[in-house]
Amino acid sequence: MHQPFEMIPDRVACGLCEAGGPLLKSHMIPRFVSRWVQETSATGMLLSPSRGGKPLQDVPTVRMFCSSCEQVLSRDEKTFAEKVFRPSRALSESWSGFTYEAWLSRFHAGLMLKAALVRAPDWVVRIAERSVIPALRAYLLGENRWPRPYEMHLVFTDYLPLEQLPADVAPTIQWYLMRGADLTSAFNESRSCYLYASIPGFQFWMPIRPARDRGWHGTKVRGRGEFRRPSSQHVGVVNWLDFLSFRANGASSMTAGTKEQQESRRRRLLRDEERTLNSESLRAFFNSPPRE
Ligand SMILES: [Zn+2]
Repeated sequence: MHQPFEMIPDRVACGLCEAGGPLLKSHMIPRFVSRWVQETSATGMLLSPSRGGKPLQDVPTVRMFCSSCEQVLSRDEKTFAEKVFRPSRALSESWSGFTYEAWLSRFHAGLMLKAALVRAPDWVVRIAERSVIPALRAYLLGENRWPRPYEMHLVFTDYLPLEQLPADVAPTIQWYLMRGADLTSAFNESRSCYLYASIPGFQFWMPIRPARDRGWHGTKVRGRGEFRRPSSQHVGVVNWLDFLSFRANGASSMTAGTKEQQESRRRRLLRDEERTLNSESLRAFFNSPPRE
């Protein structure tokens, strides 16, 4: 059976404080997300395309953090779920946004740390280990006031207007955006590099090379502030839709077949779309049936 999380090994030391000792099984994607998907799906079950559509009882977990770090991270997850995720899903179009304090950047940074700890190409791992992971740890452990020099960008997603979708877009893209979840590092041929996480309705980005990325508008997360809806946002990622399409395809097909088949498919995609932002290794996702 092919498990979507098999590419993430259990850790020996805590991913946040680096202490050894017993580590808890952490949800890579916050539990509130899978709970909501379950509650709002037609069948009340999570279905995993990588398991032939068999129900998943829960989103897989990985031994990643010690119990005190898990508590640190889950506090901010809970706040985000209550103040942002649940109201936004319940109110849909009439949701007017939210004001926030440090819990937003902390939640965002927690997701970015998980994304930074999963497997990636060597050169991305080197950058992450040298600068990004230490910056995120120092911030989350309260040693720094910001994971500087990095910026965090929050992007609101919605079902894409059908007339704007290119013909070759992944058929699963709407699922991916509004029912799925993902966590990875992302990069392109010009060696721009990002950390990325996606949950229904929201994407979390951290440019790591260059750290100060141009082209973002209306997305920047600060120590405190507000996001109002509807808003105009611009995502500073070249070929953003291609990237999402690639990930959405991955959610439905990349986990099928042997590792070798997946690898050759991935290489082919990289070769065919040289400028497309890509990512590898973690296929942290789940899907449920479309709403209709
Ligand atoms: Zn710890």
